Amino acid sequence: YIVVEQVCKSFGTHQVLRDVSTVFRTGEVTVIIGASGSGKSTLLRAINRLEPHDSGRITIGGVEVTDDIATLQRQRSEVGMVFQQFNLFGHLTVLDNVTLAPRRIHRTPRAQANDAAMALLTRVGMQAHAHKYPWQLSGGQQQRVAIARALAMAPKVMLFDEPTSALDPEMVQEVLDVMRELARGGMTMIVVTHEMGFAREVADRVMFFDQGCISHDAPPQEFFQQPANDRIRAFLGRMS
Ligand code: ATP
Ligand code: MG
Repeated sequence: YIVVEQVCKSFGTHQVLRDVSTVFRTGEVTVIIGASGSGKSTLLRAINRLEPHDSGRITIGGVEVTDDIATLQRQRSEVGMVFQQFNLFGHLTVLDNVTLAPRRIHRTPRAQANDAAMALLTRVGMQAHAHKYPWQLSGGQQQRVAIARALAMAPKVMLFDEPTSALDPEMVQEVLDVMRELARGGMTMIVVTHEMGFAREVADRVMFFDQGCISHDAPPQEFFQQPANDRIRAFLGRMS
């Protein structure tokens, strides 16, 4: 569904993505792992055009990602993103955080947006907190609201950039559970994470980033059982 062809990106003289090519298929869950600075976030940001790439091509459902405003707006509503920092709007309630984009961008009437938002909040176990503000919630609860907010645009793909890295350990599981349910429901997902248990259990593919390249890409079984090279073995050693 998302096709990445020979994508390069540099910041100054530092090449962060080197000729990255891959395909993310519909319904597939891809977990991306790799050392800090290897380019994982930059790839996700390039897919969403938060960071334009220098060369190569990215297409989403056959449509190239460019700066064309109309296309970009459509693509951004098709591709939901959840970040490490939850980025909820602090001055809005949980419910309003979830309904904001559908009301503004899809012009969904408030009552209808509220109903849809309550259904999503129920799905992430946050329906009882709909009228609270973000500061009244734990990190794990905020992140579950952030997932509901991304889902409110009915995206075809969800990108997650270390969604549990900023959470206290006891809150990691509740967020992973929501993501696991989403995967079970057939959502196409690209997940950057250090949660190897999630990768083993939920991923269809595990992709290893090394210095701006995808150095290995395999089903989790194979990826973890026979690490393809010493750098992967060393990385997995540090993770466990
Ligand atoms: P981490 O695991 O720490 O999140 P990452 O694999 O996500 O790392 P990226 O955030 O993609 O890595 O960054 C790759 C490299 O690009 C890093 O060396 C980073 O310092 C650099 N970089 C990222 N964004 C910018 C920017 N806006 N300006 C300059 N350099 C940047
Ligand atoms: Mg990153």
